[in-house]
Amino acid sequence: MARVMIVGAGGVGNVVVHKCAAQEEFSEILLASRTIEKCDRIAKSVGSPKVKTAALDADDVNNTVKLLKEFRPDILINVALPYQDLVLMDACLEVGVDYLDTANYEPPNEAKFEYSWQWKYHDRYKNAGITAILGCGFDPGVTGVFTAYALKHYFDEIHYLDIVDCNAGNHNMAFATNFNPEINIREITQKGRYYENGVWVEVPPLSIHRPVPYPEIGDKESYLLYHEELESLVKHIPTLKRARFWMTFSQNYITHLQVLENVGMTRIDPVDYEGTKVVPLKFLKALLPDPSSLAEDYTGQTSIGCHIRGVKDGKERRYYVYNNCDHAEAYREVGSQAISYTTGVPAVVGALMVINGMWKKPGVFNVEQCDPDPFMKVLGTLGLPWHEVIDQPSPFEEN
Ligand code: NDP
Repeated sequence: MARVMIVGAGGVGNVVVHKCAAQEEFSEILLASRTIEKCDRIAKSVGSPKVKTAALDADDVNNTVKLLKEFRPDILINVALPYQDLVLMDACLEVGVDYLDTANYEPPNEAKFEYSWQWKYHDRYKNAGITAILGCGFDPGVTGVFTAYALKHYFDEIHYLDIVDCNAGNHNMAFATNFNPEINIREITQKGRYYENGVWVEVPPLSIHRPVPYPEIGDKESYLLYHEELESLVKHIPTLKRARFWMTFSQNYITHLQVLENVGMTRIDPVDYEGTKVVPLKFLKALLPDPSSLAEDYTGQTSIGCHIRGVKDGKERRYYVYNNCDHAEAYREVGSQAISYTTGVPAVVGALMVINGMWKKPGVFNVEQCDPDPFMKVLGTLGLPWHEVIDQPSPFEEN
């Protein structure tokens, strides 16, 4: 029986608490976040005596260490924002607690989407005998596990990887983001980037796009984006000749985003407004719907997967593995939409892997460095069933 501390009471935090409460492996759960009322609301909706709450500013390492010492968890699941990653990793190191997150550390004033800061903790975690699992949501997260699973069971060498992420849901709002607006818009407005033949190729934001077929959904225009798992997958799978990430957006979404960008509302540097420093993107976040508020009326599905090509026993091989998740079903089960659900469930599966010892090893790891089999086994039973298509033509056959 393990004790888990969950930091962050947003859309993803709600899913993580619901799912942890349902696992017999977790005997006590502490949900800690900046706004205690949000923690209490989630605890009430779960209705389990296992769940306790606490107020925590996770930008403050001393407070975090104090709370960790009081609660003594076996693992901390970080589903606050990427800005808190390093403080939470420092605090876990000081107290000797395993750590897991779903997004790479981001410096507040510059969009980077890279693992360098967190990878630097490897030796310190190793020496302390504790584990950190980085990027254990869906993408990053399951997409890395899918790729590791493909390599373990179907390929001698993986050459081409195309990660495809579709949200074919409808929330009936003119413009809203599906997870934290600040992080989401930082991600989409940065330059597109992909890996090919040993170099990273940079292209203007959203400039490369094509229709991609998604199971049960059909063709959707998909845009090439840089996504953080590309960095770790290219590092850990050296046979890759090309790795790309694609995400669907409606024309309506892109038009809104372009207007916001053109007028300066997506800037992340502080601007002076009548003597007050305002970060336009933070202000925009205050105006946009809270992503968790979209859940109630959300319909349709998400579909996220990996199209992989490579060789097995000297022969060319194609493999596609994916999960489809229904917004309304996720809402019925835990009161969140599918984007939060597909992030929160893998975080819980990853935490189970660590506390059960299957992913417990000293150091800092991305998910593809861990055994994919036990994770894949539990993923479906916790609510994200996956499907594979072997040796069928790939939509990325020619390019
Ligand atoms: P939300 O904005 O809904 O929730 C974030 C929560 O973190 C809020 O409760 C917020 O508190 C809390 N928080 C922020 N700053 C602090 C702080 N200093 N101390 C304590 N708590 C704090 O975000 P989401 O739930 O949508 O996303 C959570 C994480 O999941 C993000 O890091 C996001 O990047 C990641 N993600 C990963 C995905 C993946 O597939 N890998 C996909 C989607 C999201 P308050 O309510 O007071 O603001």
